[in-house]
Amino acid sequence: MKHNIKISKIEKSKVDQLDFNNIPLGRTFTDHMFICDYENGEWINPRIEPLRLIPTHPAAMALHYGQAIFEGMKSTLDIHGNPTLFTPEKNAHRLNVSASRIGMPHFPEELFVEGLKHLVAIDHKWIPPQKGSALYLRPFMYADEAFIGMRAATNYKFIIIASPSAPLFTKRIRLKAETKYIRAAKGGTGEAKVAGNYAAAIYPTELAKGAGYDQILWLDAHEFKYIQEVGTMNIFFKINDEFITPNLDGCILNGISRISTIDLLRHKGYKVTERPITIDEIIEASENGSLQEAFGTGTAVGVAMIEAIDYNGYTIQFKDDSPSGQMVLDTVNGVRTGVMKDELGWMVTIN
Ligand code: PMP
Repeated sequence: MKHNIKISKIEKSKVDQLDFNNIPLGRTFTDHMFICDYENGEWINPRIEPLRLIPTHPAAMALHYGQAIFEGMKSTLDIHGNPTLFTPEKNAHRLNVSASRIGMPHFPEELFVEGLKHLVAIDHKWIPPQKGSALYLRPFMYADEAFIGMRAATNYKFIIIASPSAPLFTKRIRLKAETKYIRAAKGGTGEAKVAGNYAAAIYPTELAKGAGYDQILWLDAHEFKYIQEVGTMNIFFKINDEFITPNLDGCILNGISRISTIDLLRHKGYKVTERPITIDEIIEASENGSLQEAFGTGTAVGVAMIEAIDYNGYTIQFKDDSPSGQMVLDTVNGVRTGVMKDELGWMVTIN
């Protein structure tokens, strides 16, 4: 379906002011944004306009009751200089999984992808050409009805903004297996990408960072026994030549990189199992020598190598980077830039 997206362009692009060799992370935004309003039960007026401040009523419900969800994805240039997107339809779908969980309306998935394509096409000069760099895309939706009272809002905005990002340094990370705070419980919002999940993770993460860790390894809410995910990444282990990752039990975000990693490993002939994994099992595998590799996956860094996991004073140490994690990272980057064949149909090119 083609939507009528109204386009108003900025008079003069600000892209000349950006030093592509020195991009401040998360602080620079492109010239335009995609925006659409939800009123009277329908999405109306999809448009691209110059990025601007948005007037917000102090009673806007997102500020009080937290009806706010978001997505994170990247556009890169292929070897021909064309902008590309990575499985955008999966992010469109996940946004609606998040929307359902906190009582928000669905956003039409084909309009999500069309809006992204238009925005990236208009702001393509902002895509950093350097290897490992990308234009980070942030689609989000929030309740902007001015109302004090606990119910689903009737008015929302869906917006996509874009921010160029330099290659993120992926140093090996030290993890604290968290045994006091939780990220998600069964029946909660763990599998939704809702802003409140991140708010709840900030304080425990600051504490962990203060104690010398890079990220938290989240455990289940009932027994602090089952592994969920790591910071804002999903986690994979390789034990006895088999890859294992926690199954989607409602507490775990269905990472887009998690899906592509599972598909790629299976495509390469590896056995990948999604199942509950306990921290004790990982400790035992580490002690008996069957634990071979561990890595995290997420859109921002691609793959993060794990150096150590601390669990109540016991440390699991990884001597080397994960060769499989490196293979996943190289393949995703190779396919993104078009130097490797897109055998799994990940890429969407914007001409
Ligand atoms: N878990 C959480 C909690 C996250 O915020 C993210 C980042 N979106 C991920 C996992 C990884 O998801 P993706 O591969 O889609 O970036």
